[in-house]
Amino acid sequence: MFPQTRLRRLRRTPVLRDLVAETAVSLDDLIYPIFVEEEEDHRSDLATMPGIARVPEQDLADEVRRVADAGVRSVVLFGVSHHKDAVGSETLRDDGLVARMITTAKRAAPELVVVADTCFCEYTDHGHCGVLKDGYVDNDTTIENLGRQAVIAAEAGADIIAPSAMMDGQVAAIRRALDAAGHTMMPIMSYSSKFSSDMYGPFRAAGGTSLEGDRSTYMMDYRNGREALRESALDEAEGADILMVKPALLYLDVVTRLRDASPLPICVYNVSGEYAMLKFAAQAGAIDEDKVLLEMLTAFKRAGAALIITYSALDFARLVDG
Ligand SMILES: [Zn+2]
Repeated sequence: MFPQTRLRRLRRTPVLRDLVAETAVSLDDLIYPIFVEEEEDHRSDLATMPGIARVPEQDLADEVRRVADAGVRSVVLFGVSHHKDAVGSETLRDDGLVARMITTAKRAAPELVVVADTCFCEYTDHGHCGVLKDGYVDNDTTIENLGRQAVIAAEAGADIIAPSAMMDGQVAAIRRALDAAGHTMMPIMSYSSKFSSDMYGPFRAAGGTSLEGDRSTYMMDYRNGREALRESALDEAEGADILMVKPALLYLDVVTRLRDASPLPICVYNVSGEYAMLKFAAQAGAIDEDKVLLEMLTAFKRAGAALIITYSALDFARLVDG
């Protein structure tokens, strides 16, 4: 009780504050997403994501070097496909865009961790995350295909398989397929609680997906926090090595509850809409981008995240570089 207790004692100087700080963000925690467009020879800047562009496939090696040289140590690759069909068969070929971009990235920077987003929505003409049957995404066919895609990504050199389709049983199906192909040491980072959110808008524009309907029959309802724990527990039981909460900023309560419920490392995906909010608020002069970025990334860590996928990774690298 006051006056014996004075919490301001430990806030007196910067050194004291640093000494007792519980949380720090480091470049080691960050994963930078790259959009890779095939059959294109110019970079196209994304109007809704200032500072982010679709990178032509032919320039991917240079882009990956640039990211690695900036001090970022992990990337996740998203293909912008010009060969979409009903099942996303481009992802299932060993010379398809998924395989090519992983191979190119690993060749350009072997030390970089390359995360393979494992899904179909960027490669299907209807924009859904799997095979449609009568307008409904068929779970059991899709998870078999996810297993095949994971093996393609593993053979191309991926370091982590990250399934994002929100199908039931997808982690088990992928683990089975990877192990059968000899990839027993390949980690799976499951998008275990991926919410049906309107914060993905800029990403869909970036990935060139045009979605028919919505994804609410497979992504989670954002009104449910306890269900996120159930989704995550199932993925853990199926063999996931890392869990994820997506989006991040509006779901920190879920991150904290998950941190208390599971010993697995947790990744958050700081999504395109969150990035757009930060950038446009800063452009309008409403906030200081650097300071809010640091505060936001720190909040992810404080909530319980070990890894952060963020479009701001290069901005953060510039910040810590001084
Ligand atoms: Zn998807």
